[in-house]
Amino acid sequence: MTRMCWCRLCQYIAAGNATVNVVFPSDSITIKGELRDYPSVADSGNAMHRRFCPSCGTHLFSEAEARPNVIIVRAGTLDDTEIAKPVATIWTDAAPSWACMNESLPKFPGQPPTPAVAK
Ligand SMILES: [Zn+2]
Repeated sequence: MTRMCWCRLCQYIAAGNATVNVVFPSDSITIKGELRDYPSVADSGNAMHRRFCPSCGTHLFSEAEARPNVIIVRAGTLDDTEIAKPVATIWTDAAPSWACMNESLPKFPGQPPTPAVAK
C-alpha cells in the first residue's frame, strides 16, 4: 500500500510537500550498498530510522522500531513509480492550508492504524 504523508518531518524531506511512501514487508527487501541513518522520534511518538544515500542525500527508507515487520520505501526512488498509487493521505492536520490533496482518497489527521501487509 502507498500513502502520502504530511507530517512535519516529511515536509522537510519532500521540500515542502508530502512524501509518497510504499509499505513493503521487511523480509521482502534486500538492500545493497551504504546507507546513513537519521534516527528520530516521529510526531506519532514512534522511534524512527530514516535511511538515505550518503553520496547524494536522497531519502530511501523509513522504519519504525514499533513495526519491524514493515519497511517504508520512498516512492520516488522506485524504477517503476506506477506501482506506488496512493490509497490514503495521512497527517493531514500538519499540512499547510495550501496543500494539494487528492480529495478522492481517505484522510487521516494523524497516524493511522498500522497497515496490514499481505505476503
Ligand atoms: Zn511523514
